[in-house]
Amino acid sequence: MKPRSAENKASEMQRRLDAYVEEHNMRRSPTRDLVLAEACKLPQPFAASELIEAAEKQHISMPTVYNVLQLLIKARILLKVNRDSTREHAMYEILAGKSYAIQMYCTRCGRVTPVQSKVLNNAIKAYKFNNFNLQRFSLFVYGECKVCRSYKRLY
Ligand SMILES: [Zn+2]
Repeated sequence: MKPRSAENKASEMQRRLDAYVEEHNMRRSPTRDLVLAEACKLPQPFAASELIEAAEKQHISMPTVYNVLQLLIKARILLKVNRDSTREHAMYEILAGKSYAIQMYCTRCGRVTPVQSKVLNNAIKAYKFNNFNLQRFSLFVYGECKVCRSYKRLY
């Protein structure tokens, strides 16, 4: 049951955020909590722009969203999955539950496209990592997308 597990994920992450906030003697912030709840609702991994769009509907500004993203990374609730991307194309993932994602990342335009491949997913899950228990993975494959390649052919 998908909606239920999404709710569990959100409440688990809220508990982690509450613990972090308390540990660091910070104030609780309803806005921060709301951004986290929106991030948990998005398909993972998600682009900053998707979260900004969702947050704007709740009247939360873009700088606030970026501030919350940074805090969630520090609190190990969130991971920036494509580290070398620009801020605009950065993608993030909530670190809860099982998640297996493969994405194609265009090095020219920054477009991110999900890859649906049972073969690749199963190969990674079956791999015996040395002294490491696999919980989730997020794999980026780098190259040039169809649009950028056809644009190159024209000029
Ligand atoms: Zn491209």
